[in-house]
Amino acid sequence: MERVLEGRTALVTGSTSGIGLGIAMFYAKAGARVMLNGFGKPEDIAKARAEVGAAMGVAEAPYSAADLSKAEGCRQMVAEALAALGSVDILVNNAGIQFVAPIDEFPEDKWDLIIAINMSSNYHAIKAALPGMKAKGWGRIINIASAHGLIASPYKSAYVTAKHGVVGLTKTVALEVARTNITCNAICPGFVRTPLAEAQIPPLAAKFGVSEEVALTDHLLEHQPSKKWVEVDDVAQMALWLVGPNSGGMNGSAYSVDGGWTAA
Ligand code: NAD
Repeated sequence: MERVLEGRTALVTGSTSGIGLGIAMFYAKAGARVMLNGFGKPEDIAKARAEVGAAMGVAEAPYSAADLSKAEGCRQMVAEALAALGSVDILVNNAGIQFVAPIDEFPEDKWDLIIAINMSSNYHAIKAALPGMKAKGWGRIINIASAHGLIASPYKSAYVTAKHGVVGLTKTVALEVARTNITCNAICPGFVRTPLAEAQIPPLAAKFGVSEEVALTDHLLEHQPSKKWVEVDDVAQMALWLVGPNSGGMNGSAYSVDGGWTAA
């Protein structure tokens, strides 16, 4: 990979798994120094740190265990990144969770948690990281929204609400930084092959009494015209594009990587 991010630093939230880990790997291979964040089994976190570290030419990538469901956790994570990397040139707000239930049965604690992690953490992290970007005169912010930031599906009220909020926050921040060398964009993936999405298949198979294969193509990917997963690297490629050379003109947009979902 061309080392287009040589000299840059990046903080990718929720990067112990899935899309975040894929973006962290792309950035490290492109020459950036990257800090990881997220939960998981200690051995999985150690593996992620070693893999991203190897791409950076160090034993292990720096890592923050901060809990992004709390404002204080978001601030702590940015402070840890500034201490470890010296700056946060690129911030990718990616951490997220899912919960599916009809609105009249949707648990209040799940609602609060999804709004906190999937939406409010973006606000807290941007607020903490932006002053450093302004001082440096360069910055890139990417918020990982979703196709569900643009359209809705039933039973995902908290997730759809949070992701629409993320797209709105992205536009607002973009306008506020428009006269600087900082940009803020959203990426809106369709169904991407990750633990978060794959976990939705068995309940669908059980609900409709079909095989997991049919649950995937006919139910989970019902609205994704490609009828196949978007791959993590497809999203990571977009995330690299938005922070690489000649990316300054892209600001305030929501870029779909969804196998044609939102074209339908
Ligand atoms: P994943 O479950 O593989 O990864 C989620 C990451 O977030 C993990 O690293 C996890 O530890 C971290 N995380 C969860 N709660 C956290 C907390 N409180 N504090 C810190 N980290 C926390 O999921 P993924 O599919 O890679 O999803 C990543 C992002 O992409 C999410 O925002 C998700 O909504 C979005 N997205 C995913 C898909 C998809 O189909 N997979 C589609 C559209 C959007």
